[in-house]
Amino acid sequence: MNEKPIRVGVVPIGNLDGIFAKTVAAHLLGYFHLQVDILSPMGHPDYAFDPGRRQFDAGLILKALGKRPFRNSQKVIGIVDVDLFVPILTHVFGEAEQGGRHALVSLHRLRKREDGAPAPLSQLLERTAKVALHETGHLFDLLHCREKRCVMHFSGSLRDLDQTPLFLCKYCSLYLRDAFKRASRP
Ligand SMILES: [Zn+2]
Ligand SMILES: [Zn+2]
Repeated sequence: MNEKPIRVGVVPIGNLDGIFAKTVAAHLLGYFHLQVDILSPMGHPDYAFDPGRRQFDAGLILKALGKRPFRNSQKVIGIVDVDLFVPILTHVFGEAEQGGRHALVSLHRLRKREDGAPAPLSQLLERTAKVALHETGHLFDLLHCREKRCVMHFSGSLRDLDQTPLFLCKYCSLYLRDAFKRASRP
C-alpha cells in the first residue's frame, strides 16, 4: 500500500524569532520523522486575552487556527509567546485537540529558570521542543504516560518538564507508530 507522508505545519503566532519554529520543525523531523513545513505567521492573538486572568485563552487560539485552511498540513502546531490558560488549570505550556488537528506551544513560561532568572537559550529551545513533541503526541491521540522517562509524561512545572526526556517510552513509541500508519493511509 502506498503511504503518503504525514505533513505537519508549524505556524508562528505573533512576532517570534524564526529559531523557535525551526527548532520545533527539526525535532518533529528528527524524533518523529514527520515532514514539516514552516508556514507564514499569524497575528498576535489579542482576541484571546482574558482581562480577569491577564492570560490568553488557549481554546480561542486553537479555534482561530481551525478557521484557517492550511491545505497541505494534516496537523498544525502554533507557537505563541503569551501566557496560556485552559479553564481548569492555572497555566499550560501547550494545548492540543486530543486526536485532532491543532495544537499550541507557549514560550512564555519556558523562558525562566527555576529561580526566576532568564533561562539560557539552549534550555528554552529544549523545553520548546519537548512541549511540541508532547502536544504532537496528543494530536495523534497519545494520552499522558505514567512513565517519567517519556515525553508524554504530564509536566505541571518547569522542574517536571526539565526532567522529562525528549523521547517516548517503548509503549508510547509503538502506539505512535500505529497512529502514524493510520494517519498516512491514502
Ligand atoms: Zn499533555
Ligand atoms: Zn510513554
